[in-house]
Amino acid sequence: MIGFLIDLDGTLYRGREPIPHAAAFIRLLNDNHLPYLLVTNNSSRTPQQVAEHMHELGIEVTPDAVYTSSQAAAQYMAEQRHGSRVHVVGEAGLQIALEAAGFLLTEETPDFVVQGIDRSFTYTKLTEAVRHIKNGAAYVLTNPDRMLPSDGGLMPGAGSLAASITSASGVEPVVIGKPSPIIMNYAIARLGLPPADVWVIGDNAATDIRGGAVAGCRTALVLTGVATAENVQAQLESAGVTPDMICEDLQDFIRKAMPQDGANAANRP
Ligand SMILES: [Mg+2]
Repeated sequence: MIGFLIDLDGTLYRGREPIPHAAAFIRLLNDNHLPYLLVTNNSSRTPQQVAEHMHELGIEVTPDAVYTSSQAAAQYMAEQRHGSRVHVVGEAGLQIALEAAGFLLTEETPDFVVQGIDRSFTYTKLTEAVRHIKNGAAYVLTNPDRMLPSDGGLMPGAGSLAASITSASGVEPVVIGKPSPIIMNYAIARLGLPPADVWVIGDNAATDIRGGAVAGCRTALVLTGVATAENVQAQLESAGVTPDMICEDLQDFIRKAMPQDGANAANRP
């Protein structure tokens, strides 16, 4: 049995647009009962919201097929057993994941400061987070992305906010999201397969492919997002990784990696 850890943005969709062959690829996995998880560094949305967004794009997945950096952060913090009091710098997806895992969100004497993207980040929030960390709260970062693609161009991600918190506090966070082995190992465990039987598919060499390679998975870089046919060599050099496969898109992946299943799907009425 082969399983799949699939990135979202730049792999299945770009903002509000589905990427060609994404819906067909997910249908192929569903029809053949192949285990997969959609693994995203985006901490702002809940799995329910991700599934709804994808439904609007014509890609049918259930919320339990989505695994976010917020869920992985909650799982990591629960394992640490440092306490259950959490100060959150982040959006709804992070707050909901932490509450669902039994954490108490508080401004007073937290055991953890957990930070993701926060599009209403302020000087006051920076000050509070830094003071809590200086007072001994463990600092957890959902994902290290410094910049993100968005409809209006690039925008700063959680990693850029983290740079200010680290600069002020002198404390480096525990990083949860890709390429961290923390999220990769949790996701692999959810699939219940040995890493060597898992394909990690994504558009970002520095996060998806590096994370997959470090975890011992097979890796496929698709040229539909951060990596493109034009920049792929430069991206691989700067990330210092070599994927097992470079694919134009997900149809190309099916052709190269799973020709048997692809043929079965094509022959089905
Ligand atoms: Mg991506």
